[in-house]
Order: sequence, then C-alpha cells, then structure tokens
Amino acid sequence: MVIYNGRKVAVVTGANRGIGFEICKELAELGLEVILTSRDEEKGKAACRRLQDRKLPVQYHQMDVRYKDSIYRLSAFLKKEIGRCDILVNNAGIFPDAQNAGGDEWPSVFTTPVDTVRTAMETNVYGPMQVCQAIVPLMIKNNYGRIVNLSSGMGQLTYMNGHCPGYRISKTGINALTRILSEELKDYNILINSMCPGWVKTEMGGQGATREVREGADTAIWLATLSDGGPSGKFFRDRKVFVW
Ligand code: NAP
Repeated sequence: MVIYNGRKVAVVTGANRGIGFEICKELAELGLEVILTSRDEEKGKAACRRLQDRKLPVQYHQMDVRYKDSIYRLSAFLKKEIGRCDILVNNAGIFPDAQNAGGDEWPSVFTTPVDTVRTAMETNVYGPMQVCQAIVPLMIKNNYGRIVNLSSGMGQLTYMNGHCPGYRISKTGINALTRILSEELKDYNILINSMCPGWVKTEMGGQGATREVREGADTAIWLATLSDGGPSGKFFRDRKVFVW
C-alpha cells in the first residue's frame, strides 16, 4: 500500500475550531498526514498554521460541506496530489434551532420553521453524504477506510426528547447515513461509525459544558484508528456502544 509521505491521510471537516481542530491536532500527533478543512479559508489557514508551528504534518484545504463544487475540489486534490484518503471525519455541524428562534434556546416543534430543519439537514446530513460520495471511492480503491460521523445524543431515537427539531432530526439522519453506508461498504475494509462527543466546551456547546475538547475528541480518534475487523455501523459514546 502506497502511503503519502509514509503516512496515512486523514480529512477532517469543519476543523478550524472546536472538536474538529482537536481531532486534527491529535491525529497529526499520532503521525498521520492531516488535511484540515474549513468553509472559511482565512480561519482554516490560521488554524492550520497553529498546528504547523508545532511541526505537525497538517495541510489546509477549503471545503464547505454544503456545496458540491467545493467538495469535489477537495476530492480532485486528493486524487491528483495525494492519491488516497484513509480517514474521513465528518465533524462539521451546526445547531440552527436557537439562532432562528429569537434566542429561545429550546424552541418547540410548533414554533420552528421547517426551513430550520432544512438548514440543519444541509450541513449535518446532506453535507456528510456528499463528502462520502466524493471521497469514499478513493477508500474503495485502496480497500481501506475509517469514517467517523459526529452525531449527538440529541439524535438518539430511544431517548428522543422534545424541542430543537432541526438539530435532533439531522443527527438522527446522520445516524441513518452511518447505517446505510456501513451496509453498502461491508465488502471493503472500510469501517464507518457514528459517535456522540458528550457536552463539550466549544462555540456550539458553550462554556457551561461539562467536557473539555480533548474528552470530546477521544472516541473520534479511537474510531478513526480502528484496527481491521473493528466495529462498523454502530453508534458510540466514550468508546462504548450507545443505543440508537
Ligand atoms: P463548533 O465549535 O460550533 O464547530 C463547528 C465547526 O463546523 C466550525 O468549524 C464551523 O465552521 C464548521 N462548519 C459549520 N458549517 C460548515 C459547513 N457548511 N462546511 C464546513 N464546515 C462547517 O462545534 P463543535 O462543538 O466543535 O461540534 C463539532 C461536531 O460535534 C458537530 O457535528 C456537533 O454537532 C457535534 N456535537 C457537539 C457537541 C458539543 O457539546 N459541543 C455535542 C454533541 C455533538 P465556522 O467556524 O465557519 O462556523
């Protein structure tokens, strides 16, 4: 197997801050070649420089997961310049419910415009789906891949609560995508799983959250580096199977 610069290659979406940035840092510390992506080029390049300053093997590429052209520019770069992608972390995510509800943090399904759900789906589900459509063929070609989908306990059907339908429905959606992809990829050495990072201190989680980004990233790093024959099509939290 040809490995870029002697290293496996990982792509992380929405990685200019928060959990995605931490995942890039930790994968690079493990010796992987990391492609840090973001929708905003300036913010992404600045984040990438912070890791390069520490001599970590990280490079930058723009990708807004809502736009097919942007996604295909990244996959063309991977095909032409690198020839592979071993790990994909679908981390980019938004929580548009509160923003669209005039400050009500837990808006009801009765007051939430359907457009809020559409907006959440665009980034949290259609985004990862299109990113997989563009990148997984490279994994199939090399018969190797690890895909981590950042989901949330708020997408769990078993304990589904009221309020915030945009975020909740989209995170249930990404869990369905995990199942569909794992079934279609079962003949390849490609393992795909969903995970919940817990309530993490980031811009999305807020400073009142109970976990540091390092704790939020831990299960993602573990899933991104699973050995052959590891689990696929499952939902995890704290490295343990989490009920759908
Ligand atoms: P965050 O700090 O808000 O970071 C989200 C990242 O996603 C940012 O880099 C943001 O870029 C990027 N992003 C948003 N839309 C994008 C798009 N269309 N294309 C590319 N990137 C985009 O959130 P976080 O807490 O690190 O969350 C990371 C993941 O964990 C999300 O999927 C989230 O749903 C999930 N999660 C978080 C928590 C928590 O408590 N924090 C709990 C459960 C699940 P900009 O800087 O340009 O906005």
